[in-house]
Amino acid sequence: MRNHRQSKLTSLHGLPSVDAVLRADSGRRTAETFGRTRTVKAVRATLAQHRASALRDMPDADAVANTARRLLEREDMSSLRPVFNLTGTVLHTNLGRAVLAEAAVEAATKAMRHAVALEFDLGSGRRGERDDHLRGLLCELTGAEDATIVNNNAAAVVLVLNTFARDREVIVSRGELIEIGGSFRMPDIMARAGARLIEVGTTNRTHLKDYAAALGPGTGLVLKVHTSNYRIEGFRAEVAASRLAALAHEHAALLAHDLGSGTLIDLARWGLAHEPTVAEAVRNGADLVTFSGDKLLGGPQAGFIVGRRDAIAPINRNPLKRALRVDKIRLAAIEATLRLYRDPDRLASCLPTLKHLSRQAGDIEAVAHRIAPAVSRVLGGVFTVAAAPCKSQIGSGALPVETVASFGLAIRGKGLDELAKRLRLLPIPVVGRIERHTLLLDLRCLDDEAGFIGNLAALTPAP
Ligand SMILES: *Cc1c(COP(=O)(O)O)cnc(C)c1O
Repeated sequence: MRNHRQSKLTSLHGLPSVDAVLRADSGRRTAETFGRTRTVKAVRATLAQHRASALRDMPDADAVANTARRLLEREDMSSLRPVFNLTGTVLHTNLGRAVLAEAAVEAATKAMRHAVALEFDLGSGRRGERDDHLRGLLCELTGAEDATIVNNNAAAVVLVLNTFARDREVIVSRGELIEIGGSFRMPDIMARAGARLIEVGTTNRTHLKDYAAALGPGTGLVLKVHTSNYRIEGFRAEVAASRLAALAHEHAALLAHDLGSGTLIDLARWGLAHEPTVAEAVRNGADLVTFSGDKLLGGPQAGFIVGRRDAIAPINRNPLKRALRVDKIRLAAIEATLRLYRDPDRLASCLPTLKHLSRQAGDIEAVAHRIAPAVSRVLGGVFTVAAAPCKSQIGSGALPVETVASFGLAIRGKGLDELAKRLRLLPIPVVGRIERHTLLLDLRCLDDEAGFIGNLAALTPAP
């Protein structure tokens, strides 16, 4: 109430009034950009801050307007903004995993902008199925009879378990009871899906006879899980999917194979280690195979279930399927991504995940030498910047122990944590990794060198 009794230009503390700030040049410009309502609110907040501060500084109207403007600019800066992923982990779950192909971006944009024939059969004019758009492609690329799509692979696994093993037993090797970061732990997922977990074998060795002994009338599923993010080495034994499928079928049970990352194509073609392909898993006799859309496949987040037609049908009838379905935007992006696999020769140039993974260390080294001087100019004096070899990893629980030779910038000096923070606060945050007293910027995933260097101009001075 006090403010109402103040003069029009200054308030109690000698601060400019809201009106005066809005009339100042910078105040007018701020209101033009952000709208009057938001600007008034920001100006009030700024004035309140000055009133509350112990410092008796008396900013003029322009200064208050400028502070309010910065406040609004910060407010408008998305926390979900693009970053330079220089961590060396190509599929970084915390950085959004796969970067999509341009074809997928275009398809998604089109689907966002327009009405699409999502569940509409254009031939008959009757209701269609949203999965119909992808079924053909998925079957073509995996050799499966049928396919269905859900929100992510975790959802795919839950749906398979809930459909075939609710109030029934699921047999899993003790060596495959995985945790995929955070809250995806196989035993917990089973419980939530209503399935009873029957663990067989030991951590390092599980035999066919272990599964055979556990199979019985209560068995809903035999589940084989790809140990995506760890590897058991040494004295070990696991049962091949093909033998497990035969055993399950003898007992009239189904084999579900959770591949995790799964890939549609043999990565050995690009000099990477072999990761089981979905087609192999299908060929080996699994009735159902589940895998992710945004891991090695290089598409948007999604979970795929492919397999026998009579095994997919009950999944589609499960009411949970409706709760886990995928929207038109992602379906469009998935379809465009899958199409790229029809032309493997061009895949590495148009699918960013594969482009990044297959980049040769020598090419990355050339990038490092090209940009090192510019980075050195920005950080020079305080830090040393040198091109240096390093190792990238694939990430997202694919090929967990394999690394790929790469190159990066090794930054050394006092205050690396602080520097890492300043880099994260850039307009396009730069995320590297600190190891052995070195801030390492792995350049494997750097596509825009000029943009990277331009961005550095906004680096705040060292404190
Ligand atoms: C990654 C992974 C999952 C979970 O997949 P999301 O797509 O992240 O939901 C499940 N199982 C395995 C074996 C995995 O590697």
